[in-house]
Amino acid sequence: MNQPETVAVHAGREDFAELGVHAPPIDLSTTYPVRDLEAGTASFDALVAGQATAANPIYARLHNPTVARFEQAMTQLEGTTDAVAFGSGMAALSACLLAAGQRGGHVLAVRPLYGTSDHLLNSGLLGIPVRWVRPQEMASAVDDDTALVMIETPANPTLDLIDIEAVVRAAGDVPVLVDSTFATPVLQQPVRQGARLVLHSATKFLGGHGDVIAGVVACDSEWASALRQIRAATGGLLHPLGAYLLHRGLPTLSLRVHKAQENARVIAERLATHPAVGRVHYPGLGTVENAHLVGTQMRGPGSLMAFEVHGGHAAAARVMASVCLATPAVSLGSVDTLIQHPSGLTHRTLDPATQRECGITPGLLRLSAGIEHADDLWADLAQALAASQSARAA
Ligand SMILES: *Cc1c(COP(=O)(O)O)cnc(C)c1O
Repeated sequence: MNQPETVAVHAGREDFAELGVHAPPIDLSTTYPVRDLEAGTASFDALVAGQATAANPIYARLHNPTVARFEQAMTQLEGTTDAVAFGSGMAALSACLLAAGQRGGHVLAVRPLYGTSDHLLNSGLLGIPVRWVRPQEMASAVDDDTALVMIETPANPTLDLIDIEAVVRAAGDVPVLVDSTFATPVLQQPVRQGARLVLHSATKFLGGHGDVIAGVVACDSEWASALRQIRAATGGLLHPLGAYLLHRGLPTLSLRVHKAQENARVIAERLATHPAVGRVHYPGLGTVENAHLVGTQMRGPGSLMAFEVHGGHAAAARVMASVCLATPAVSLGSVDTLIQHPSGLTHRTLDPATQRECGITPGLLRLSAGIEHADDLWADLAQALAASQSARAA
């Protein structure tokens, strides 16, 4: 059992035969009886110190078996020994930054990142300074004070790819965190290229149905222990109902990712020749940085793209107002198609100069293809583009 399709269906279900169940049980207990105080104390000590399990879960902020099953599934999908789930992608990133901050020093990060990740780092809210670098400057920027290197590939919203292996090499002993949300473990497993931490906003493809906010970090046991300690102390938990939904959705992850990718290819190709559209950023068209990594680092180009509509902000707003089938909304990786305006929404917290530097123009829209029929999606998008251009002409 090592192909992602098979792992996605069976992972985290190893104890089902013993339990005599076919679907994951949901454990909603907030507390667990302690009849044997000595044993309870030992369990408490172990969990507070960041151990994955103990004889007694003690309290749901320390451990939850439903969440642990989802985590177990993620370790198998990412090829790591451990995974730690959180109440959101941002809670997951916060825990990584707090863990890195314990070593002192700074974070080296590459732009563009998800807007709120950029904001969290740049604002210094967690007390860890950031230095922004380009991938090619990484080797010279790393010094004894570098606690963590953070990259996102494919990047949000421009879909530029970063060569993870090259960054890992440049980082030397410094751990590299890859936000792999856009790729999912179906298309990319960053530990293969040497990343120490793989972060997902599980809200996106892993959940896939637009009904769970969650985050997860797949990593080695040393980092996992630090992350669990922080999770237990700060309380950025994933609720077991959310974990259940995530685990329930994993068996179809590969189907969803591949179907959405097929749709994205069709849409990107048609957008590229549409008179209302300028540049289309899609790894499958070769129109992003390092597109050659599709086929090596990435198994496929994915289902996200960004494109410029002629007519700037007003035309982009008109497209958002005119789509009927696609939902004009932030987020991504859902079974339904979502379209949004990075400059006005997800990347709003970046100052105008940084937006420009990241290629976030007023006419840029980001589309996350869903699993509908490509022809229906295209018909909807084509009428919305036509509406934006007729308004422009009027
Ligand atoms: C959405 C997103 C996040 C933040 O995750 P939340 O679950 O919304 O907290 C981080 N990184 C990327 C790439 C994202 O798309």
